[in-house]
Amino acid sequence: MEKWLSLWSIGQDGTLNDFQSIKNAGFAGIEIWAEQYRSREYLDYAKQVGLKIGIHLPFHDLNLATPDSVVYERTFNVLTEWIEILSQYGGQHATFHGGYAWSSEERDETLVRVKKRLLQLDEKAKQHGIDLLLENLIPDKLNYCHHIASNVEEWLELVHFANIKACLDIGHLAVMGNDLEETIGKLGNSLGAVHLSDNDGKADLHLLPGEGNDLANALYGYLTKYQFAGPVVYEINPYKYSLKDITDHLSKVEENV
Ligand SMILES: [Zn+2]
Repeated sequence: MEKWLSLWSIGQDGTLNDFQSIKNAGFAGIEIWAEQYRSREYLDYAKQVGLKIGIHLPFHDLNLATPDSVVYERTFNVLTEWIEILSQYGGQHATFHGGYAWSSEERDETLVRVKKRLLQLDEKAKQHGIDLLLENLIPDKLNYCHHIASNVEEWLELVHFANIKACLDIGHLAVMGNDLEETIGKLGNSLGAVHLSDNDGKADLHLLPGEGNDLANALYGYLTKYQFAGPVVYEINPYKYSLKDITDHLSKVEENV
C-alpha cells in the first residue's frame, strides 16, 4: 500500500527541497490541496521530483449540492478545470466533497440533485482518465445543514449510484461514530483512497497517528484483509506539525514494518 501526503500538511511555503524530502521519506505521491496559494507551483515541484499526483478538489464557496443554478455552474466549471489540469500532470484521482443541503429538511430533494451532478462530473472525469472519489464528511450536529455524505448509508448509495469511488477519511469516520473495519468491508471495491489522521473521536484534529485515539492502529490490517491497493494519504495539521515532524514519523513507521 502506498503512502501519500496531502499538501495541506506542508502549508503554503513549500519549496522544491521540501518535495524532495517528501519523496526521500518514502511517500509515493501527493494530493494537491487546490485552495493553496501555490497549488499550481506545487504540481510542478511534484512532477520534478517524480511524486505521483492526485488532487483534493476545491470546495470553499463551491457547493456541489446548491439549489442555486449559477453557483452550480461556477462549481462545475472550477471542478472540471482542475480535473483537466490534473490529467495534464498525469494525475489519477480527484477527491471531492458532495456539498451540503441548506437545511436538513431539504436533504431528500438535494440528494436527487446531487446524483444528477455526480453523473455530469464523472462524465468529465472519465474523459480525462480520472477517478472521482467522494469523501465522507462530518455531520452538522445541529442538523441545520446536511453535509453530503455524512452517514455511511447515504455515502454508499451515492457512490454505487454514480459508479464512482470513495475516499474514506478515517478521522471523519471516527467523529461520525462508525466502525472502521465494518465500513471498509461495506465499501469493498468502491474504496479508492484513505485519508489518514488521528483525533479524539470528537473533533477533526488531524493529529499524527498515535497522538489521538490511535484510529489508524489496525487500519493496515483491515486494508490488507479487504485487498485494498490504493493510496493512504496522510492529512496532517500544518498548524501543529512541521514537515519534519511528519517525515520523522514516517521513518519510524517504516522502521517498524
Ligand atoms: Zn476533504
